[in-house]
Amino acid sequence: MSGGAHAVRVFGATVDDETRCVHYRTEVDVVAMKFACCGRYYPCHLCHAEDADHEGRTWPPDQWAEPAVLCGVCKREIAIEDYLATTSCPSCGALFNERCAAHRHFYFG
Ligand SMILES: [Zn+2]
Ligand SMILES: [Zn+2]
Ligand SMILES: [Zn+2]
Repeated sequence: MSGGAHAVRVFGATVDDETRCVHYRTEVDVVAMKFACCGRYYPCHLCHAEDADHEGRTWPPDQWAEPAVLCGVCKREIAIEDYLATTSCPSCGALFNERCAAHRHFYFG
């Protein structure tokens, strides 16, 4: 761990320190999502389903300014609306998994 402003804890079945998990572990699977229900970061919705004792709740569009996406490479928190508008980290340039777009409904709106 290199020093960022603060360490963000990522819950769930992570397999490395860039937020890859047992479900999604390719080169570009480097984001974790904060869940609106518990305020915890998980690498994916399956991690939340297995680890949390409650139903996952999504972020309504009027809260998309919330920094609820974590770049696993540089550990910067990104606003949901910024994440949805890009395919790479605005801070370090790491490429994000474009296929995640198909899973948006698990997290947002
Ligand atoms: Zn939750
Ligand atoms: Zn997972
Ligand atoms: Zn980054």
